[in-house]
Amino acid sequence: MTAFYLTTPIYYVNDRPHLGHAYSTIVADAMARYRRVAGDDVWLLTGTDEHGDKIAQAAAKAGITPQAMADQNSAAFRATWQALGISYNDYIRTTEERHKKVVQAILQALWDAGEIYLGTYGGNYCFGCERFYTEKEIVDGKCPDHLTPLTWIEEQNYFFKMSKYQGWLIDHIERHPDFVRPERYRNEVLGFLRDPLTDLSISRPRRRLEWGIPLPFDDQYVTYVWFDALINYVSALGGPGDPRFEKFWPHAQHVIGKDIVKPHAIYWPCMLKAAGISLYQHLNVHGYWTLGGHKISKSVGNLVEALAFKEKYGNDAFRYFVLREMVFGLDADFSEEAFVGRLNADLANDLGNLVSRATTLIVNLGGGKVPQGGSVTPAEEAVAEAFAKVKADVAAAMDEFAFHRALASIWEFVGVVNRYVDTSQPWALAKDAAKKDRLDAALTTLAESLRVLGIMLVPFLPDAAEKIRTALGQSGEPRLADAVWGRFAAGAPVQRLSGLFPRIDDKKTSASPAGPVETAATPRIKIDEFGKVELRVAEVIAAEPLPKSKKLLKLMVSLGQEQRTVVAGIAEHYAPADIVGKKVVIVANLEAAKLMGVESNGMVLAASIGGKLAVLTLDRDLPPGAKVT
Ligand SMILES: [Zn+2]
Repeated sequence: MTAFYLTTPIYYVNDRPHLGHAYSTIVADAMARYRRVAGDDVWLLTGTDEHGDKIAQAAAKAGITPQAMADQNSAAFRATWQALGISYNDYIRTTEERHKKVVQAILQALWDAGEIYLGTYGGNYCFGCERFYTEKEIVDGKCPDHLTPLTWIEEQNYFFKMSKYQGWLIDHIERHPDFVRPERYRNEVLGFLRDPLTDLSISRPRRRLEWGIPLPFDDQYVTYVWFDALINYVSALGGPGDPRFEKFWPHAQHVIGKDIVKPHAIYWPCMLKAAGISLYQHLNVHGYWTLGGHKISKSVGNLVEALAFKEKYGNDAFRYFVLREMVFGLDADFSEEAFVGRLNADLANDLGNLVSRATTLIVNLGGGKVPQGGSVTPAEEAVAEAFAKVKADVAAAMDEFAFHRALASIWEFVGVVNRYVDTSQPWALAKDAAKKDRLDAALTTLAESLRVLGIMLVPFLPDAAEKIRTALGQSGEPRLADAVWGRFAAGAPVQRLSGLFPRIDDKKTSASPAGPVETAATPRIKIDEFGKVELRVAEVIAAEPLPKSKKLLKLMVSLGQEQRTVVAGIAEHYAPADIVGKKVVIVANLEAAKLMGVESNGMVLAASIGGKLAVLTLDRDLPPGAKVT
């Protein structure tokens, strides 16, 4: 059994889970499931990154401790991964003792080895990014990421002697062409390394920042959040010497988004080298999701709740779309139209239809059992050969994290089998007793095709694969080694399986409402247009006026599992104390917007006429988060 160790990024707890996070995690989960089916001993790690200025600031703003904020948001990530069926083996939090212990041990070892020194640092600092920017990176005197003014800070800090590893790192990357992949990111890293590599400031003075892991050799400083965070990949395995570490670390691979290439491809290998720990095998880098052309990112608004799509279309459809639509490494655009298009074409038409046709034919024409072989003609051979090729193609694609290619290959096979049904016409063969042998061959081929699909689809569509396997009476652990043609025992029972992926009717309209409706100037809309608006019950837990605004109140509302800030234009009608504790109705899926410098994530519904205004509330009690339809 080969060990296989895969990590997602650890997600920063100043944020709620969004599509970018979900993609990284789904990719890692699909890979972990593939390697498990392939027979590897797999360890999948995810978790949360919980230290640093941004958490301290966000917590202070919300009036809670950094630990409380970390607990809240870490739980939100964990709940999201559970709801998405992510098969992680471990969930690390950087505020855990087991992590701090390893970080401090590595820092102490580097200090003892003379790899760390005390120096002075002055520079332009962005509090949002928690980093200094070089003159070259600054855009119009502002942070290139946040486009906000930078602050000049000068202070004594500890530095890691990263510069001395520049030549060694270039050499390593050149000798291991797939150390960073796909290739575009390897080139990007080599591009960074054409400029001189500076030493890395790895500490922050405690008078400026308390929220971090204290340096073991100087408790007036805490560890820089990146230096702390990267070590999670090692600390989660118990660190050097731990049996789990010794088993899995030599097979380590990381999955990250392209925004964090530099720390992972440059800082991290140098840190490992200095600490005498072997390097990871591969850094697998994916691109950004855009939403209608706009970036979905960590600290910028425009978030998509991963769970909203999961709830609406199901886990498998959501996984399929993101894995199939994004060419791993490149950017892709997320739209509901594209989503529904793929669901209908690939899942409902191609796969769902095949499963329904094939199982129905076996039940109706074969008495619900896999028949005794039948003689194989070139038509059946072609299906078997197509599968052998697809299996090899999927293996090659998965070796490179090319999920889109793996799925395209599997769907080629689905197409081959669908065409085989059309050309072999089992329903016609069944009408002629003399063609019993041909009918048996056709039904056997269909049963065999579904059986191997039931294994190949496990990493990508775990729920659908399970349903297919159940319909075919396959109860053991799915193994790629069994995805070999001709292993289906004659006489095995088969059940009909239809509606695996129901079609989404995007032109669905509902009956018109009874009685005349006053439409005035507003045109009528279809029910599915209304369905795009996600209305939810929200409990107002805090409210404060926005300075400089007569009209706006800043509300902190609870939607049950999450809390968010909503800015509402009700200050002339409600004092903060009047609205706190009320259960109101908000538009929950409104794009984030900045109002007087505050990001609002949603809109409170209110009625107004003739200068009077009333916020909509419920006339009996329901928990926050309840959907309004
Ligand atoms: Zn910034």
